[in-house]
Amino acid sequence: MTDLPEAPGAALMHDAIRLRESLGLSNRDARSEAETLLMRALGIARARLIAHPELAAEAATHSTYRESLRRRLAGEPMAYILAEREFYGSSLMVSPAVLIPRPETELLVDASLERLDDKAHLRVLDLGTGSGAIAIAISLQRPHVTVVAADVSENALAVAGKNARRLLAAGAERVDLVRSDWFDSLAGTRYDLIVSNPPYVAEADPHLDVGDLRFEPRQALVAGKTGLDHLERIIRGAPAYLNEGGWLLFEHGYDQAEPCRQLLQDAGFVELVMERDLAGIPRVSGGRWLTPGPVTG
Ligand code: GLN
Repeated sequence: MTDLPEAPGAALMHDAIRLRESLGLSNRDARSEAETLLMRALGIARARLIAHPELAAEAATHSTYRESLRRRLAGEPMAYILAEREFYGSSLMVSPAVLIPRPETELLVDASLERLDDKAHLRVLDLGTGSGAIAIAISLQRPHVTVVAADVSENALAVAGKNARRLLAAGAERVDLVRSDWFDSLAGTRYDLIVSNPPYVAEADPHLDVGDLRFEPRQALVAGKTGLDHLERIIRGAPAYLNEGGWLLFEHGYDQAEPCRQLLQDAGFVELVMERDLAGIPRVSGGRWLTPGPVTG
């Protein structure tokens, strides 16, 4: 048999096939992930890889690329390997200390922006900010709004702080970071909008053992037996931190719109909100607080 010279893309193609087999990806996603890992290792843009197909041969030996491929084959999310994920038009730094921002959470930002007038000096609280994705997106879109971002995890706040410094213009938009277990360290403050993407997965949910979720912080995902523990705390707590006429908006699981509606109603919220994501799944709920809230210590 004659030895045909291997095409320059053969090694990359072979890696894409391994990704497809190991992770159950489509051909197209597997190919795109292998290319992305190689582009990152070589420090080049996709256009350069297309214009110089001979660069694909590097896939066989480049040590940074081989290492990132090994991590991906072991199931680690692309966002953690690349240390970034795009959300609402910005590239956010992410680490295993924070949940990876999801496209469906952009709906929560949209619902928030609809309720924030550009002119007035409004105050927004993002509870459980993680990477800072929601707080930073709101701040960039509404520079006149004061945004407070709280999280119980110091490590998450460190990531949010880096993102805020990187993405927000000095002196223009700004996000104040506070360490707080939900409302515990916020006594005496009030907001016109409280927004949250809290943990809402039930502890026995089998999805926790599949895909990206295996690598994400449990603390950011799991909320007791039903997944409602934290949502309940937020809904009950929010009135004491809302200005009259202020809004509470949050993300929840595919089957939690109804229990959330009940909790909102019981807590005295009106003008109840329920919005569906692009897949048609109820994803964001909330309501308005019309009476002056109780006083906190
Ligand atoms: N939407 C996430 C999921 O993939 C959960 C995020 C959360 O708990 N806030 O299930």
